[in-house]
Amino acid sequence: MTADLIDGKAFAATLRARIAGQVAALKADHGITPGLAVVLVGEDPASSVYVRSKGKATAEVGMRGFAHRLPAGTPQQELLDLIARLNADEAVNGILVQLPLPRHMDEAAVINAIAPEKDVDGFTVLNAGRLATGQKAMVPCTPLGCLMLLRDRLGSVSGKDALVIGRSNIVGKPMAQLLLADSATVTVAHSRTRGLPDLCRRADIVVAAVGRARFVQGDWIKPGATVIDVGINRTDDGLTGDVDFAAAREVAGAITPVPGGVGPMTIACLLANTLTATARVHGLSDPEGLTP
Ligand code: NDP
Repeated sequence: MTADLIDGKAFAATLRARIAGQVAALKADHGITPGLAVVLVGEDPASSVYVRSKGKATAEVGMRGFAHRLPAGTPQQELLDLIARLNADEAVNGILVQLPLPRHMDEAAVINAIAPEKDVDGFTVLNAGRLATGQKAMVPCTPLGCLMLLRDRLGSVSGKDALVIGRSNIVGKPMAQLLLADSATVTVAHSRTRGLPDLCRRADIVVAAVGRARFVQGDWIKPGATVIDVGINRTDDGLTGDVDFAAAREVAGAITPVPGGVGPMTIACLLANTLTATARVHGLSDPEGLTP
């Protein structure tokens, strides 16, 4: 059996087109144009690429983009002052501070300075807490994208055994919360987990967010399982996920490729969150199909 490919690139393109339609309607009906501010501190090459593609994607769906680039040595207070200005700016509906920040900065303090209603990454304590307690939140983009792919493939994840490998605040933890809220039975694995291959063999859904190339082996996969590979690893053979794709594809029911799986969903969900934030601040109902 060869697994079906979950085409995140195509799904994300459809999602972006739908968002563009909703942005146009917002403009026509209410005279509102959503605005996303992206803040980059320093010159990290990977971050610069992400920030550029976020700016391009914003313009393509008809939103306004505000790019703020600060030198690596910027004092933290200057960044906090910029965030305060963006919090107060009515043209800005979403604020994203590209991580990682330079070492002299306190990442948690910077992130939590973002107004929760503009926190389109969903990384503030308030949004993480809302997600964990089942309240309306801004949800981190990568796990939101994974959830959309899973629902599209499976219809519902209710009652399924889901294994999330990785417990970062950015991917693993919010992914687990979203699956739990959707009534999956969730196990979260990390570097101290014992017997990971056997845990994996029981899982109907595997979400791998480890950061190690081809870490999840083909013979760990339950036949027919749905495998979501979040990993982006730069290797001599190019970009590789956290799953041994060739081997897993022989066993799984469906699997995301890398590239072309989760990656494109992340940016599409950032646009989705910006639109949701805009609707909420104007007292409009949440745009359809963009929230969990
Ligand atoms: P982190 O490094 O923050 O977290 C990695 C997690 O993997 C940790 O919880 C760690 O455990 C766990 N881990 C490490 N080694 C093992 C092991 N041997 N067995 C089990 N678990 C292990 O990474 P992120 O969550 O930020 O990202 C994960 C991957 O996803 C990366 O490849 C990243 O590039 C990619 N990514 C992709 C995105 C996209 O848009 N497609 C967006 C964000 C990330 P412990 O906590 O114990 O250390």
